[in-house]
Amino acid sequence: MPKVYNFGAGPAKLPEEIYDIIKNELTNYEGTGISLLETSHRSSTYLKLNAEVQDVVRRLMDVPANYKILFMPAGGQGEFAAVPLNLMSRTGTADYVVTGAWSEKAAKEAKKYGKVNLVVPPTNRYTDIPGQSTWNLDPNASYVHICTNETIHGVEFHDIPDTKGVPLVADMSSNFMSKKVDVSKFGVIYGGAQKNIGTSGVALVIVREDLLSNPMPVCPSVLDWTQANKNDSILNTPPMFAIYIMGRVLQWIERKGGLDAMAVAATKKSSLIYDIIEKSNGFYYAPVAKHVRSKMNIPFRIGSSEGNDALEKEFLKGAEARGLIQLKGHRSVGGIRASTYNAVTIEEVETLAQYMKEFLAKHSH
Ligand SMILES: *Cc1c(COP(=O)(O)O)cnc(C)c1O
Repeated sequence: MPKVYNFGAGPAKLPEEIYDIIKNELTNYEGTGISLLETSHRSSTYLKLNAEVQDVVRRLMDVPANYKILFMPAGGQGEFAAVPLNLMSRTGTADYVVTGAWSEKAAKEAKKYGKVNLVVPPTNRYTDIPGQSTWNLDPNASYVHICTNETIHGVEFHDIPDTKGVPLVADMSSNFMSKKVDVSKFGVIYGGAQKNIGTSGVALVIVREDLLSNPMPVCPSVLDWTQANKNDSILNTPPMFAIYIMGRVLQWIERKGGLDAMAVAATKKSSLIYDIIEKSNGFYYAPVAKHVRSKMNIPFRIGSSEGNDALEKEFLKGAEARGLIQLKGHRSVGGIRASTYNAVTIEEVETLAQYMKEFLAKHSH
């Protein structure tokens, strides 16, 4: 089969080396003679893996000792509920900075459990993040929630906002481990694994110790961080295979030079695509304001700022013919979206860039 270039937004490309490791370990995990798929979650084998994956998270992100690392079920959206259920009982209200479809969804979920204050004026375009001086923060909020990278709209925070002592909670599903972040600036960092650090079903949660111990009484046990922490993320049977894959991906990141190396590559890859867009005289159109452009997800239109249906279809068809796949924009925004996660190589992005140049040349008269 000819090479396929996967630019999908999620579940997204995994590093190719991971597949050899998984194949080798699939039926005989670390010399046990059985697969991890049929191993008890209470076995010493799994306890060792559980500790190993936490350790690699701690090393890669320099997680301070007063933060707990949890593996939670139900993916990124499970945490949309878990965040208010674990944190909102302090004051009954929370601040949400809605900058795209995912933070909008998170705010909607939180409304089931308490009062949600929208920090920035509602919009449906999501092409910028309003300056922090304009934010309507509530000093009484239990926490301030942001989505550090909006996977659908391609809007990314490049600076950590100052929430004046109110715990900052961040959904990092789609830019987890793409760069160094100062964990101590956050109360909670969480994300589903299937975009940048693994496969679906598990959420990685990093929570400051003092924020535990006060869940809402209705909080389901399986979403309860305090119980997860007391049970070392083995309250019930965890998504073991997803946690295993996350561990192998994180070890791969470590071998490749860690988060600084990922950040350098992300800048290179996203610049390759954005440069072509910028130099295309409007043929390619990027809606997102320059200072908040995502280095992970690059949405763009072809032909005009609203897109040209025929050209976009032709672009996608030609891309597929070359093995460049999963480039279609999210159905809610249309157009094209190229995702340039950690596992996508510079050479792969160069191939897409080359195709974009040729497509532009073909259509400029
Ligand atoms: C994909 C995604 C989610 C949802 O993750 P699921 O595991 O599908 O629930 C949440 N937030 C962001 C930013 C995402 O990209």
